[in-house]
Order: sequence, then C-alpha cells, then structure tokens
Amino acid sequence: MSVVEYFAKVARKPTISAIRILNQNRILYMEMVDVDVVAAMVRGDSGSVYKVVVNIREGRYYCTCPANIRGRLCKHIIAVIIALERKYGVAVRPKPPSSPGSE
Ligand SMILES: [Zn+2]
Repeated sequence: MSVVEYFAKVARKPTISAIRILNQNRILYMEMVDVDVVAAMVRGDSGSVYKVVVNIREGRYYCTCPANIRGRLCKHIIAVIIALERKYGVAVRPKPPSSPGSE
C-alpha cells in the first residue's frame, strides 16, 4: 500500500486537498533538517504559509495551521509526507494524533 493509498483510507478529505496542494506546487520549501526530521513550508488555501515538521522514524508530525492545533493530521502534513515519498523514497506511517493531555 502506497502512502497515498494509506492516507486515502485514514483521512480521505484532507488527502484530496493534499494532492491539490502538490499539483499546485504549494510546498514552497522542504528540507531534511536532521537525520529523521523534515521541515517544510506549505501555502494554505487562504494564502497563509504554514510550517510543517515531520519526524520520519517516530511518525510524529506538527503543523502551524489552525486545523492542526489539536494534533490532527492536516492536509499540509499529508502533502509533505507524500512529497517525502516522491522525493526521497521515504515512507512515513504517521501515528494517530495523541489526545490532549497525553504524554
Ligand atoms: Zn496544517
């Protein structure tokens, strides 16, 4: 199962939006900032730019957009993870969001 197929199962709507982000080249910047960590800047639908950080090994992720405040897997994160696979051949399997107050 590819990363895209995986996301289409667990988060169908944001995955469709993520594919649109990729098709419109709205990932402005993406770079490995550590062995297992990628940082990216993604332009949202409103034109605002959000920062996304993904820890590949741990399957953890973070985005500065309002949808991700509660730790949800947003379209920006999904777009970055799909781009990661396309660019570096890295398959990330994100952990489900942790509930507020955990860890
Ligand atoms: Zn986001």
